[in-house]
Amino acid sequence: MNIPFLDLKAVNAQYRDELIKAATRVIDSGWYIQGQEVKAFEQEFADYCGTCFCVGVGNGLDALILTLRAWKELKKLKDGDEVMVPANTYIATILAITENRLIPLLVEPDPRTYNLSPARMKQAITSKTRAVIPVHLYGRLADMPDIREIALRHDLLVLEDAAQAHGASLNGRKAGNWGHAAGFSFYPGKNIGALGDAGAITTSDEELAQTIRALGNYGSLKKYKNLYKGLNSRIDEIQAAFLRIKLKYLDKEIEARRNVARTYLENISNSLIILPKWEKEEQHVFHLFVVRCTMRDSLQAYLHRQGVKTLIHYPVPPHLQKAYSDLQDLKLPLTKKIHKEVLSLPISPLIQQKEVNQITGFLNEFCKMEKRWIKKV
Ligand SMILES: *Cc1c(COP(=O)(O)O)cnc(C)c1O
Repeated sequence: MNIPFLDLKAVNAQYRDELIKAATRVIDSGWYIQGQEVKAFEQEFADYCGTCFCVGVGNGLDALILTLRAWKELKKLKDGDEVMVPANTYIATILAITENRLIPLLVEPDPRTYNLSPARMKQAITSKTRAVIPVHLYGRLADMPDIREIALRHDLLVLEDAAQAHGASLNGRKAGNWGHAAGFSFYPGKNIGALGDAGAITTSDEELAQTIRALGNYGSLKKYKNLYKGLNSRIDEIQAAFLRIKLKYLDKEIEARRNVARTYLENISNSLIILPKWEKEEQHVFHLFVVRCTMRDSLQAYLHRQGVKTLIHYPVPPHLQKAYSDLQDLKLPLTKKIHKEVLSLPISPLIQQKEVNQITGFLNEFCKMEKRWIKKV
């Protein structure tokens, strides 16, 4: 047996004819950067998220970097200001903060949801905290109503890291439309992926959208008129054309992911495994299906022997990476524990019900064996 973690080739093969048609259209247009495809995709993605604006950029990391940078240009942030962030996020969130000479304020997550905990958020705010980046990790929307409330009371800017949560929503309001701005990634493996790098920012703040747009285009909105010391970070026309196709099928793919999650949740039954929490249908898009197990490494080895590919998101927390040796003394026991225990099971719009059942069977079997063993000693 061989069950891949995610078969990207098969995902894109579903739309092969449409993708080829789109690529041909762009090739034949003679216009490859900042054209009609990007403009149309930005409009379509803003409409999808429910925001007034969307600005396409080179990738998800740039989306976060450019938003914080724009707030600096607009004098809403300055060097040395603190930006709160859940400590268990993917390192890109934190890179965006330090790249802007801002200080990351790492907070332990809610171990039930893996997202920023409003209670801990409240406790962690200092006199220097000016912004917060809630991350909708694994595709589950963070507790945005409470986070917004606290941010409002403490005058914090809110930047959603929505790189894993396209389409997640609460009370009908989508990821990307809760903060002052949101960063998205269209990295190929995300729930809506380009065939290369791409990212975007959504916001309903026009001044912010314009500033980000300028910053990603050499600091310029009008040719040869440079307002800022900008950089170059844009979506290619060809990627925008691909993304317009993928966006049409996003909701259908999310539904397929939810069906896989439902099967896992109904059939994995073991006290050794902690399952993801899913209270409201709309709040989770299951970019990843992450379980926790204190015997994670042997569980992963067991599944690999059965031909089931799993991944770990993420094996080492950012504050224990060499790049952040300045943060290594932080005491974040929960974050450390989460990184030791999480395991991502295969999930995709195309995985077969039969395969999901097989994986579930292996998991339950592993637990039965381990329990028998524990009883003996
Ligand atoms: C993927 C990801 C990013 C970075 O996106 P790229 O497009 O790869 O630069 C940022 N934050 C989170 C949570 C991500 O999962």
